[in-house]
Amino acid sequence: MQSNFNRRKFINTLSMAGAGLAIGAPHIASARAGNAKPALLGGTKTFPPAFPGWPVYGQPEEKGLMDVLKSKKWGRLDGNVMPAFESAYAKQLGAKHCLGVSSGTSALYTMLGALDIGPGDEVIIPVYTFIATYNVVVLNYALPVFVDTDIESFQVDAGKIEAAITAQTKIIMPVHIGGSPANIDMIMEIADRKKIPVIEDACQAHLAEWRGKKVGTYGLAGGFSFQSSKNLNCAEGGAIVTNDASFAKTCYSFHNQGQGGQRAAYNPGVGTRGTNMRLTEFQGSILLAQMTRLVEQSKRRTENADYLSKLLNDIPGITPAKLYEGTTASAYHLYMFRYNKEHFAGLSRAKFLEALSAEGIPCSGGYGMINKDSYVTGLAKNKHYLKIYGEKTMQEWLARNQCPQNDILSTEQAIWFFQNMLLGSKTDMDQIAAAIRKIQKNAAALGKG
Ligand SMILES: *Cc1c(COP(=O)(O)O)cnc(C)c1O
Repeated sequence: MQSNFNRRKFINTLSMAGAGLAIGAPHIASARAGNAKPALLGGTKTFPPAFPGWPVYGQPEEKGLMDVLKSKKWGRLDGNVMPAFESAYAKQLGAKHCLGVSSGTSALYTMLGALDIGPGDEVIIPVYTFIATYNVVVLNYALPVFVDTDIESFQVDAGKIEAAITAQTKIIMPVHIGGSPANIDMIMEIADRKKIPVIEDACQAHLAEWRGKKVGTYGLAGGFSFQSSKNLNCAEGGAIVTNDASFAKTCYSFHNQGQGGQRAAYNPGVGTRGTNMRLTEFQGSILLAQMTRLVEQSKRRTENADYLSKLLNDIPGITPAKLYEGTTASAYHLYMFRYNKEHFAGLSRAKFLEALSAEGIPCSGGYGMINKDSYVTGLAKNKHYLKIYGEKTMQEWLARNQCPQNDILSTEQAIWFFQNMLLGSKTDMDQIAAAIRKIQKNAAALGKG
């Protein structure tokens, strides 16, 4: 069983792209590449140069880091850099409050902690997501309830959320996968009517917008990740944004050992649980520096993604992920599309990915069926879950977690490109399309290989 929900494969692909920089001078293959022999069968690579590397840094990062170093105020309880970043990010998103935390996972975990989620509670999550969305629910001994995927958008099928709600449902946690907004109108309508709070997993969706307003600001709160691969990056980090002052306070307290504010002998916070999820001033300084490029980079990704979609829409068997009508901006953390082998002489997706990588185009099959992964199904045998929920409920849980559309998408159709590839030029996008056309023309020969 193939399951690449850990990030290893992704990182490998990225570093392969980076490694390409060392090999020779950039050279664009001829426009007649479509007729040439596939690289996988010994032909010339369509795209020998590398896509832009990630991360990007310069003077602002160097100065920011050195300033923190010399200040001797390295932690958020010591200095003022984190608060400066938090105001800047809140302002950028049009949110009232922002709290920096140690990772995207910590952001989600802190929000669940602030809502006092625990044993017996259910949290609704999409099945097509990074495993962290699931993990934060399970860390609280709550029951994660998967909702199937809208195969056209790769997002949670909002039309299936209501059927997953029970008397135990405490949170609906949609994910804006790939950085494109889930169907926010539909999700908020259900949540408001059922009076269930929405926590947005916006870990991939920095600056994405729904009807002109940033995602992460629609629900009670939103969580962002600043992990190395993400569009805003400080190696490891995350943030919570919310317009609810009282929720912001509870989150602060939870992430600071249940304490209220800066360092003090006794400084009571709110709530009854807490831990340490604080981010350092060093990371705050990198984030502030990275933010000087975020808007420009996002603009470039969007321009390239729009252009690439035009090119790919003309290739039979290639279907870019649909953006919902309310989408006014995608963050394009991933460029996602569907592959239909019927238009490629039956060439399997695995072989297509291999052939495309050989042409110099990094790509991935994306998430697997996490609901069927042994890491997840094993929960039905976890001794604590058996104690809390009982054998019958855990067996029913396994039966509830069927997601047939996601099975098809994740095993046969889904393909991803990565955000750094969209930071290149239009010519780079032309080369992606040329490589796919080349594989299509030679699909029969590749299929036999
Ligand atoms: C990256 C990511 C997370 C977790 O963020 P980390 O910073 O890696 O902890 C959670 N959810 C989604 C959808 C993500 O992509």
